Amino acid sequence: MSELTIDRVQTAILDVPLVRPHRFARTGMEAQPLLLVTLTTRGGVSGTGEGVVPGGPWWGGESVETMQLIIEKYLTPLLIGRRVDDIAGIQQAMNDVVNNNLYAKAAVEVALHDAWARNLCVPVHTLLGGLARTSIPVTWALGTESAAEVIAEAQGKLDAGLHTSFKLKMGAQEPAADVARVTEVAQKLSGVAGVRVDINARWDLLTSLQWLPRLAEAGVELVEQPVPGNEVEWLAEINAALPIPVMADESLRTPSDALRLVKLRAADVFSLKTTKSGGLRYTRAITEIAAAAGIPCHGGTSIEGPIGTAASLHLACALPGVTWGSELFGPLLMREELLTEPLRYADGALHLPDGPGLGVELDPSAVARFTRA
Ligand SMILES: [Mg+2]
Repeated sequence: MSELTIDRVQTAILDVPLVRPHRFARTGMEAQPLLLVTLTTRGGVSGTGEGVVPGGPWWGGESVETMQLIIEKYLTPLLIGRRVDDIAGIQQAMNDVVNNNLYAKAAVEVALHDAWARNLCVPVHTLLGGLARTSIPVTWALGTESAAEVIAEAQGKLDAGLHTSFKLKMGAQEPAADVARVTEVAQKLSGVAGVRVDINARWDLLTSLQWLPRLAEAGVELVEQPVPGNEVEWLAEINAALPIPVMADESLRTPSDALRLVKLRAADVFSLKTTKSGGLRYTRAITEIAAAAGIPCHGGTSIEGPIGTAASLHLACALPGVTWGSELFGPLLMREELLTEPLRYADGALHLPDGPGLGVELDPSAVARFTRA
């Protein structure tokens, strides 16, 4: 038996209130649920990962409740007694017992990296190959509200020097009205800030071919995932038709997805999320396929809390190919701080913390306050 052997696995669901309600195409949230997964080794060192989806199961079918069940009933028994540095072996064992459920597996995989790195007294990025950068630019996500509200929020962020790039969620309204709304925002922010849109897979091929060129004309600089994740051929057709880059998100969860997107030239940019892809290592595998195809990557978010954001930040800082910035704004959307020392956002970027593991420490009293009864 080793000091690195996993002795205990604990989970807790937190509901963290947001600074403002966050709207997606068909749903919204006023608090973000987070699942914390903590592994404790025989040597007494713990590592934590976060299971998180954007507001509910609409994106990928998982929720904090399904993750908690999968981890407690099916993954915990195979973790106990194994070493935290046996990550490839544990991933294989998890895949043998549970199909898909990549968000749940990501929470465990990040906790393994955190615990192993803390045992070695090194940061998680060291386990990922070392640093390519020490900070990453952060785009702010604007919701589906009216143009006036969205412009006011963007202006506030610009005035405060917090962000110079914005992503708008689309798909909540009819395309004509939605395009008119985004056109107004893009024209207002033209020359001052970059504007990107995320349609979250809500349009079909014809709607996309009809309306996306107008967004390009209005100055929108990038279009994220207009069509459903499975419709990679549609995405390829749209990408060929548009003068601006198309970014894949829902269509990109596994390294095989990345290969398929590359073969069809279906996207010019890949949105990476540690969460949707089952953890740090599978996400890194995606970036290696992207690099071989000359496709840059962007650090996407599932609106992680500080643990999940720190994990994605370590990865984004370790991967040379993440040259399209990030949207790692999750903690900024949360009204309450969960860390003893907050993550540092400055100059439009998120800066890598120092310290072993993920380099962040949870504040136990804050965690207790938001833990679901
Ligand atoms: Mg997206």
